[in-house]
Amino acid sequence: MILPTLGVGGSGTLAAEVAAAAAAGLGAACIHRAFVGVWRDDARALAGYAETLSRTDARPGSFKSKTELDELTRGIENAVGSLRKRVEQLVTQRRELEVEARLAEAERRHAEAILNSINDAVVVTDAFNEVALANDAAARVLSFDLRHSLRKPVDRVMHDATLIKLIKDTREGGDPTLRRHVEHRLGGNGQAATFDVTLACVMDDKRQDAAPERVGVVTILRDITREKEISEMKSDFVANVSHELRTPLSSIKAYMEMLVDGEAQDEETRLEFYNIIQGEANRLSRLIDNILNISRIESGVVKVQREQVSLSALVKDVLDVMQPQARAKQIELVEAPCPAVFQVFADKDMICQALLNLVGNAVKYTLPGGKVTVAMDVDGSARMVSVSISDTGVGIPPADVPHLFEKFYRVADHKKLAKGTGLGLNLVKHIIEMVHGGKVSVTSEIGRGSTFSFTLPIAESEA
Ligand code: ADP
Repeated sequence: MILPTLGVGGSGTLAAEVAAAAAAGLGAACIHRAFVGVWRDDARALAGYAETLSRTDARPGSFKSKTELDELTRGIENAVGSLRKRVEQLVTQRRELEVEARLAEAERRHAEAILNSINDAVVVTDAFNEVALANDAAARVLSFDLRHSLRKPVDRVMHDATLIKLIKDTREGGDPTLRRHVEHRLGGNGQAATFDVTLACVMDDKRQDAAPERVGVVTILRDITREKEISEMKSDFVANVSHELRTPLSSIKAYMEMLVDGEAQDEETRLEFYNIIQGEANRLSRLIDNILNISRIESGVVKVQREQVSLSALVKDVLDVMQPQARAKQIELVEAPCPAVFQVFADKDMICQALLNLVGNAVKYTLPGGKVTVAMDVDGSARMVSVSISDTGVGIPPADVPHLFEKFYRVADHKKLAKGTGLGLNLVKHIIEMVHGGKVSVTSEIGRGSTFSFTLPIAESEA
């Protein structure tokens, strides 16, 4: 007797189908369930028939009656038919699972694409504290390899103990509906950054008749380093401004009080007091002008009026303005011959202000008998002009050089040499770099002098 094969639609045997299903990635539990369902009853029946057949040698003459043979044949056909049906169900189920798996994969890729389009670092961990999803930013910020992190315990993927503890605590304790916000600093060796870390539980609320369950944690890290720096700068600025304004104001107040109280008895002393009051009032007004100019540039509300400006003409004007001050200190103020004629496309008043601050400083921080030279040069290939203001002055200690352009920064040793606000160079930097896209730089040697330089783009039509 030839038993019917168990193939379905000619596509292969049950074992092949199941193997294919397994290969297609079906879950072990699903295959196990399918096997048990198929085999338990029908396979037992088939085993019984097979035993009967082996006893009878499967020859028609071995059976007592035709009815017995017919019954056996029917039984085998029924069992095989039932098996075939179950296999068909299994195959259908496999196809459905394949479709579901493909959909799930597509959804995962979609979620990944969304996560990767976000600048913030995102890590999703599951109910076992294993990494279920993460984006490129997270891999970069937390220094792990994205390809080898999925389905791995979070404490083997990440190295930051605080963050790992936060993730575990969020999954295990507290109110699951609340989001946690923590400020956390990551990294070191000059690479440190501050993050606003948001942690939220992922809740499974689809299960009916059961309270929502925590199935994981979403962790989002937003880099707030720059924001923090700006807010610190703002509070430093306010503290510095109030301090700097208070100094000349208290001086003016003190001298005014002495005058009112009649403490300056002779004309000469009164004149001295008036001069001090005038000097402090001028300093106050310079300070306020500088603060306003800097904050206007920083906030972007300054009106920039660009035009073709002849830089050499501007330098001449500034030197003319500064000449009396230099002469009073017996300082020689010279303009070095310029190799080419060119123009820049710039805001004339602003560049004039920057030049005045730089030449003014050169005169201020050079001892009598010294020399201040203003030179210009053109770099045709880079399409830039450079202006340098060199002096034979006191020079700047190397440790102070990197801070010179910061607001209110003054070299401690120079405070007794000249009065100042510590805002002049900061304003120059704002004007040259923020407004005009140039660059400022400085070189200096103590006791020999300093050179402050800036570059500006050449006006295109005059190039
Ligand atoms: P200030 O009003 O104090 O001059 P600036 O911002 O213009 O403020 O300059 C900051 C500091 O840089 C000064 O206090 C001074 O110590 C130093 N500095 C600036 N220019 C020179 C220079 N040409 N030579 C030496 N030191 C300088």
